[in-house]
Amino acid sequence: MPGPGVYWFGKEELDAALEVLQSGYLFRYGDEKDPRFLKKVYTLEKAFAEYCNAEYALATSSGTSSLLVSAAALGLKPGDEIIVPAYTFVASYSSLIFMGLVPVLAEIDESLCLDPSDIEHRITERTKAILPVHMLGNPCDMDRIMAIAKKHGLYVLEDACQAAGASYKGKKIGTIGNIGAFSLNIFKTINSGDGGLVATNDKDLYEIAFGMHDQGHKPNRTGVEVGNRVLLGLNFRMNELSAAVAIAQLGKLDRIVSTLREKRAILKNLISKAGGFRFRTLNDPDGDCATLCTVIFDTREQAVKVSKALGSKTVDQSGWHVYANMEHVLAHLKKIGQPHTKGSYPKTDDILSRSMNISVGVVDGGLGAGWGININSTDSEIEAAAKAFVSACS
Ligand SMILES: *Cc1c(COP(=O)(O)O)cnc(C)c1O
Repeated sequence: MPGPGVYWFGKEELDAALEVLQSGYLFRYGDEKDPRFLKKVYTLEKAFAEYCNAEYALATSSGTSSLLVSAAALGLKPGDEIIVPAYTFVASYSSLIFMGLVPVLAEIDESLCLDPSDIEHRITERTKAILPVHMLGNPCDMDRIMAIAKKHGLYVLEDACQAAGASYKGKKIGTIGNIGAFSLNIFKTINSGDGGLVATNDKDLYEIAFGMHDQGHKPNRTGVEVGNRVLLGLNFRMNELSAAVAIAQLGKLDRIVSTLREKRAILKNLISKAGGFRFRTLNDPDGDCATLCTVIFDTREQAVKVSKALGSKTVDQSGWHVYANMEHVLAHLKKIGQPHTKGSYPKTDDILSRSMNISVGVVDGGLGAGWGININSTDSEIEAAAKAFVSACS
């Protein structure tokens, strides 16, 4: 039950992957003089930077590694605090925790993204950054978040893992803060099985992120570096096969997003006649990926009744992505003296207990979006789903 890119896997991905296998070059580096070396990772980086209108893009092995190298690029040090929403995928926390950082959780609002009004009172002298997560393809309220960051001198690391293709007021998300992390795992808008991307306009951040992902090397390993490496890195490289598939998917991204928007508009229009709920807030209705259609019921009882009738779950019951359901994260938060019990973020608990995610592009029970439509649904399938929803509401 994957993301929309999987539904649209086709000849483009197959040909691109075969071409790489036939070239014999699967590693991101190869003999530049050999015309068989296709430089797919390099090409993906250029294409993604252009797509985002960013100066630099870096391909990595996953969204988790993208977050990790981005945090390292910002120079965040063990003990530094970083403000993260209480509703996100576990990797938003684990990547920071493995860097020795302290995730300070904050509430979400009805966009299901970080609530800008819950940030400032959590800032301490140790706070160094804010990590807004563009949850379920929906951009955060970046104007307010950037204003807070500026006022307090904080970095902004955008977790855009669920939102490749989204934009905020005309700018591609991931390029509004200092640096942005993307994922290419199968549940995202586009995918290469696994993989990640980083986008930034800052050359220094790009170079450190590159070094972190490639054993301390300068971008693309140009020149003699032995004796000159200033950075100790790890290996979070992407390989040529993944990049070939990612390039093919990137070519479909705008069409995926526009198709999802059309299908969701039809669905929203049909279900809006059932009362008792509102759609979640879209901070930029023209920039949202439309991978999901989230409805927030007036009461928890109604949310449970409707989701049960459709064989789905309320978001708080969906297992993943909810802080209170992450026992391993809670155990760590307890160890470092941060709030670590269910109920610590009451506004988030309340909103998620009344929310249901209807699939539009991402069909994923782990998101509570096991029910709904998909990118290939026909008008009559959308009508049937809408009808089922409306009748479950009555
Ligand atoms: C998927 C996801 C990640 C991690 O991406 P991987 O490619 O699975 O490592 C990080 N943050 C969020 C919000 C995600 O949804």
